[in-house]
Amino acid sequence: MTYTIRLFICFVFFFLLSCNKEEEKKDVVLESEEFTELGSDGPYLYGETYQGRKGYTTYYPGNIPVILSIPHGGDISPSEISNRTYGVTVTDSNTIELGIAIRNYFYSNHNIRPYVIINNLKRTKLDANRDKVEAAQNNIYAERAFDEFHFYIEKAREDIISKFSTGILFDIHGHGINPDGFNDLRTWIGYLLTADELDNSDDYIDQNISINDVSIYSLLNSSGQTLSELLSGPNSLGALFENNNYTALPSPESRSPEGMRYFSGGYNTFRYGTNREFNFSSIQLEFPFQGLRDTPQSRTQFSSIFVDLVHEYFLIHLNIDLFSL
Ligand SMILES: [Zn+2]
Repeated sequence: MTYTIRLFICFVFFFLLSCNKEEEKKDVVLESEEFTELGSDGPYLYGETYQGRKGYTTYYPGNIPVILSIPHGGDISPSEISNRTYGVTVTDSNTIELGIAIRNYFYSNHNIRPYVIINNLKRTKLDANRDKVEAAQNNIYAERAFDEFHFYIEKAREDIISKFSTGILFDIHGHGINPDGFNDLRTWIGYLLTADELDNSDDYIDQNISINDVSIYSLLNSSGQTLSELLSGPNSLGALFENNNYTALPSPESRSPEGMRYFSGGYNTFRYGTNREFNFSSIQLEFPFQGLRDTPQSRTQFSSIFVDLVHEYFLIHLNIDLFSL
């Protein structure tokens, strides 16, 4: 090989090497992209709307001690976020529309509003009801949306505690037809108790399950009722559903899943219902599709009932009258 050819090969080799370095540099820049500080779009005022980065998250501040978080209803699918490669990716359809209908009903009939936080990203991009690793799977833009979603919830909780000293977050979901084809039309209410735990007798539940393990610890303390009463007694949330012709589980009619599919509450219910630093409770609501969130009429009809039963629930267990704050 002549000297010239060797020199040429060396030149090509170093050229390729430097190209690689350029590529690496690009990656480094992407990894370290700086976002504006969380909270820089605040202060958060009642009646205003906040959109988060690129509108991936929406925050509507409210004025009553109720938070509605909606993690699985989004449909935005940006190319800057690659698809998640593991975990559930099914959308809880019409749950954003349902949350908005509830918010509208509170306002049009009682001139009050809950705090509402919505993840607008499709679940293939972000699962806003998982820990950050599974939720965003290392994509910095999905991680940012995750951080904003929880930042807004935390700001809402902070505002509520400063004004009302306690509150409840309802994490809104939708369940579909079971794998075996059974279409369960009950709303599954999740307090972090598993199906197996709910399958026990009231006595067993009251004697053996610690109220520290459920997401309504602070509600239980205020209410003075036993855990089993809160789950399926006459003043339980499930009972209030059933008094209004919507079936629920657990409830007086359906005390436990009895082998049926049931979701007991996920990351958000745990995160906002078990942190003892805050006098706050959290409840997961898994709504059926048919007759509840399928059409605008169903959603409006259910919203009118839900607003009244949340009012009743607060009155009974927290001694707070949402309609005259
Ligand atoms: Zn869900």
